[in-house]
Amino acid sequence: MIPPLAGPSSDLLSIFLAPQPDTLLRKKRPENKGQTGKFRPILGPNAQIRPSMIHRFGAHMSVAGGLEHAFRAGVRAGCDCLQIFVKNQRQWQAPPLTTDQIDAYRIAATDTGLQPVVAHASYLLNLASPDRDNRRKSILAMIDELDRCDALGVSALIFHPGAAMNATPLAAIKRIAQSLDEVHRRCADSRTMILLESTAGQGSAIGHRFEQLGDILERTREPKRLGVCLDTCHLFAAGYDFRTAEGYEAMVSDLDRYVGIDNIRCIHTNDSKRECGSRVDRHDHIGKGKIGKQGFVHFVNDERFSGVPFILETPKGKDGRGSDYDKVNLKRLRAMIRT
Ligand SMILES: [Zn+2]
Ligand SMILES: [Zn+2]
Repeated sequence: MIPPLAGPSSDLLSIFLAPQPDTLLRKKRPENKGQTGKFRPILGPNAQIRPSMIHRFGAHMSVAGGLEHAFRAGVRAGCDCLQIFVKNQRQWQAPPLTTDQIDAYRIAATDTGLQPVVAHASYLLNLASPDRDNRRKSILAMIDELDRCDALGVSALIFHPGAAMNATPLAAIKRIAQSLDEVHRRCADSRTMILLESTAGQGSAIGHRFEQLGDILERTREPKRLGVCLDTCHLFAAGYDFRTAEGYEAMVSDLDRYVGIDNIRCIHTNDSKRECGSRVDRHDHIGKGKIGKQGFVHFVNDERFSGVPFILETPKGKDGRGSDYDKVNLKRLRAMIRT
């Protein structure tokens, strides 16, 4: 087993110490731990904090040119935390990580202090595939990604639960749970938590209803090694309208009922180009899409999500004034925090 990162990174937020028993699944988070409890304020220079809630904001960053480049880009944009790919997300095969790559990554992680770092799995994986060979390929690919995360010290691997294809949603859910059991069985020493991402429900995609995500967790043998990553764009596209306070509360109470709020380990923070219920996944800049500012105000001020990383997957590039979009979107989110 690879030990966690040295230096400041060994203080990884405890929400990601997945395989530690007795702390997770469906256990209500104790009230208001403030700065001294379970969630330690290991914050980057840009992090904002108020006595009752810890915020960590970050973005998905490209690893083109080397894994460590993502950290530099993250610092430039003002991130506290980071999401990366640990291999080319559009290919099944990738050469193994070299010692030099792992060292460079760890040095960059320690130097910049960005944490947690989460990885997004390849889009090719389909743990629900009714095709045996394809499912096998997906399981092996996920094991490879998990090994990479462990080698680097990445906290969590996020993946889209899968597509039912021509099967029923229930058959797909069962296959996903079985596939996850196999991954867990073959990666018994892994310290990387696997997070199911909520989806927009495009095509036959599983995971656009909290009931489905909760069902998958419940059917697995080792649910404590699993968590859920919400995606605000996907939630909205899937039909959860959280623009009003009432709508937001209704959604979160549903979330707690079927998934458990303490199972939420990450929130992809994206506005949506499409309408609520469109089931089409198109990300937009924070506050500029169909969700609008208020939907995000609810999330970033909800103490139930204290310490959970908010990660942008919004379009890259520069705005009309030449400012980096990630910087602009992170600034917008931070400005929504009520003090
Ligand atoms: Zn996402
Ligand atoms: Zn998306």
